[in-house]
Amino acid sequence: MSKSQLLYQQKLLEFIDVSHDGYAILAADDRLLGCNQAFCDIFYQDHKTMLGILFDDLMRKSFVERKGIRIDADDIEQWLTQAHQRRRQNPFRLFEVDLWDNRWFLFSEQVLSTGEMLIQAKEITKQKVLEHQLSSKVATLSELALTDELTKVANRRCFVESATAELSRCQRLQLPCALFVLDLDFFKSVNDVFGHQAGDEVLKAAAHRIKKALREYDIFGRIGGEEFAVFLSETPQGMALQVAERIRALLANFPIKAGPTELCVTMSIGIALCHGNSSFEDLYTQADAALYQAKRNGRNRAELYPQQTEATTEQGQGTT
Ligand code: GH3
Ligand code: MG
Ligand code: MG
Repeated sequence: MSKSQLLYQQKLLEFIDVSHDGYAILAADDRLLGCNQAFCDIFYQDHKTMLGILFDDLMRKSFVERKGIRIDADDIEQWLTQAHQRRRQNPFRLFEVDLWDNRWFLFSEQVLSTGEMLIQAKEITKQKVLEHQLSSKVATLSELALTDELTKVANRRCFVESATAELSRCQRLQLPCALFVLDLDFFKSVNDVFGHQAGDEVLKAAAHRIKKALREYDIFGRIGGEEFAVFLSETPQGMALQVAERIRALLANFPIKAGPTELCVTMSIGIALCHGNSSFEDLYTQADAALYQAKRNGRNRAELYPQQTEATTEQGQGTT
């Protein structure tokens, strides 16, 4: 070996000794031949303990002493069996590891044809913290993108997406389903007389009450100013009419508290039942037409589309 090569190797060892990255070499029989201080620090062990230790024993130590690699398993022997199925399968392997002290490391394992292995461990805690913050921000943003800010129920986009998917499922399985469009009556005058804030309270209470009248898996959302929509899957006509009446009555029969005042508010409901392969847009147009009819027929009532089928509930007097 030339002088310059020797110098290079010597310097490499010096750098490894002071490196913040952990370095360790394992023999072909998985005994630790040597490691730097940074690698010892990962496991909270001294050089004396580390030298000659078997990989399996180092992992058992980590597991029992809760120092070093966090091993989320009930049975360490089972964990080791699984670890051996992954180790030494390829000349190179890269994986992330979290420690009991909450630090994260990127480990690489380089195996020579002789079976010796070089482990390098680079700390990536900062990146993992950022990654975690980013993914929770993404989750919050997607939640915001799908939720109506005032009432906290699904917004129009979320409602339309979920209802469209559920409509196709019902059509595929030939299950009956219904779409309601609900609109508060004379809501403009609530704002005009009692103020916008009172109007907001009414919207929140109305959303809460509609939700209360529904099953957990029914789809419900605020689709516009004072308009809501409900999609009932696996629901035949009779049941749809009952649900509409329940919603209507829950609103009409109990005044809503908005600040110091109690407001009596009603709602009109348009109902469309799914026949054959109507698209969501068709169904929506029908429910909207039925809602228009309910308004024309005096409000505080539900109407079924097509109008010639039957008038439904009127001021709590039940289905006709
Ligand atoms: P109708 O019985 O025919 O539905 O009459 P209406 O007064 O309810 O209908 P109109 O469409 O004329 O009025 C809807 C009102 O809803 C007008 C608008 O100011 C109010 N509005 C829409 N969004 C909000 C909101 O987020 N908060 C409040 N307070 N009011 C809202
Ligand atoms: Mg209205
Ligand atoms: Mg309206």
